[in-house]
Amino acid sequence: MTAIGFIGLGNMGGPMAANLLKAGHEVTGFDLSAAALDQLVAAGGKRAASAIAAAAAGDVVITMLPAGPHVRAVYLGEGGVLVSARKAGLLIDCSTIDVETARAVGKSAADAGYAMLDAPVSGGVGGATAGTLTFMVGGTAADFARAEPILQKMGKTIVHAGPSGNGQAAKICNNMILGISMIAVCEGFALAEKLGLDAQRLFDISSKSSGQCWSMTNYCPVPGPVPTSPANRDYKAGFTAEMMLKDLKLAQQAAQGAGATTPMGANAASLYGLMVNAGNGAADFSAMFRFISGRKD
Ligand code: NAD
Repeated sequence: MTAIGFIGLGNMGGPMAANLLKAGHEVTGFDLSAAALDQLVAAGGKRAASAIAAAAAGDVVITMLPAGPHVRAVYLGEGGVLVSARKAGLLIDCSTIDVETARAVGKSAADAGYAMLDAPVSGGVGGATAGTLTFMVGGTAADFARAEPILQKMGKTIVHAGPSGNGQAAKICNNMILGISMIAVCEGFALAEKLGLDAQRLFDISSKSSGQCWSMTNYCPVPGPVPTSPANRDYKAGFTAEMMLKDLKLAQQAAQGAGATTPMGANAASLYGLMVNAGNGAADFSAMFRFISGRKD
């Protein structure tokens, strides 16, 4: 079984590493948090003293870090992964970061003789725990083929999105669509309420009509119609408003860099910014309904 070095064992990385251990891989991990490392050891993994040591211990190195600057530091910093990883090894960054950083770090890795993929995920902590994540992968076809059996231990849907950086591009485009469509559904239900149209009635009609979308039928932001949606548990997060804001900002950054016009994405980023600044960052992103409608439940 492939030995894996895992750096970044937080809400997502912890359960992902646990699934690799369950599948029989040897996992040597590093995190700045001692508690996260304790959890890895409790799940059967090995504790590394540094990111360098974790990288040196794996034929495959996986990183799951908060944002672009952390990825740059861990890969390119003094004594970073690009100095310490095994030469024949494969580097997979699963963090959600900006496309530019993903491509820059991917190029530095290639220049240093490493195979590297960007492989951000969707599916949240639930998907990470259940091993049902979707991986969107950027890099060469040959490197993707090497990574696929490993990613399958942590996910259900593994898609090659094209060359380096395209995994991140897919992630932010998808999440920009999601952020916009969630706001659209919230506005529709908020208007219905003001017009005296029952939420369940609108759901019964719209979920079978042209307004149908994932934000409505799988994750309805109004309590009632979809029992499994966070609206029915006080908007306890599956995916926080703060994380949605992060991804919408990444989409805006990418759009500006690429000269793309994304006015709805820009509006969605502003609205999620207002919602987060009003103290709702830790709530599920579907709590946008509560924010827009002014409802308290
Ligand atoms: P998290 O903050 O829980 O975990 C990040 C971990 O990285 C922390 O434990 C932190 O201590 C560690 N870390 C930071 N700098 C480090 C360094 N230099 N060396 C070693 N460890 C370091 O975040 P998370 O929720 O696990 O998210 C990780 C990534 O996954 C983010 O990019 C996020 O956008 C993305 N993501 C998260 C979700 C989600 O629902 N949580 C869903 C999809 C994608």
